[in-house]
Amino acid sequence: MRFSCILFLIAISTALAVSVTIKTVVFPSETNVDYVEMTPVRPLNLKAFTLCMRVATELPSEREIILFAYRTPEADELNLWRLKDGSVGLYLSTSADSESVNFHVPHLGALETHLCVTWDSSTGATDLFMNGRKSLTKIYKPGHTMRPKGKVVIGQDFDSYAGYLDAKQSFVGEMSDVNMWDSVLCDTTIKGMSSGMRVPRGNVLDWEGPELKRHGGAKVLNREL
Ligand code: CA
Ligand code: CA
Repeated sequence: MRFSCILFLIAISTALAVSVTIKTVVFPSETNVDYVEMTPVRPLNLKAFTLCMRVATELPSEREIILFAYRTPEADELNLWRLKDGSVGLYLSTSADSESVNFHVPHLGALETHLCVTWDSSTGATDLFMNGRKSLTKIYKPGHTMRPKGKVVIGQDFDSYAGYLDAKQSFVGEMSDVNMWDSVLCDTTIKGMSSGMRVPRGNVLDWEGPELKRHGGAKVLNREL
């Protein structure tokens, strides 16, 4: 077991009995104006990451849905999509028709799903975790580094830095606990997180950190985990 994993497990065990109140965002309807922006803790020039979120949506399975967008002036640096066939696709530094790495997992629905994706540039190893269960490992963009100086948006897909938002790609539903680390967290830590245990906070994106910048009708509420 890696040292970092042991540290996380110690943190998990000390946090077991404590419930925590976190914010949650409800996107009530299909629009091209509702979104929230997260302020990163550090720049996203990353060679590895773990990105996690809790997500629930009743959008039909044939509708593509943006789950997470990190957009620089140059490109969609990191997009996570629920694609039209129901799979979950990760795109790094891409334009509209570029290749993604897709995972054919059970469809997202009204009951909350804990979703994580991990990527490591040194090997290209990419994994999806759904409710703590790990997918097969796929290889995607080895040697790549993400660009910094972008914005992190939940609820809409920006096709330029200024906008070009499409309601038919928007997120409708509830999203919370969006966190990102600059390393690949171990399987046990991700499994623990999926069942509500708190681990050291995201060092790239911290859901319990800076206020969300709210746009349009996105509603920020509190919930207890
Ligand atoms: Ca778009
Ligand atoms: Ca886009």
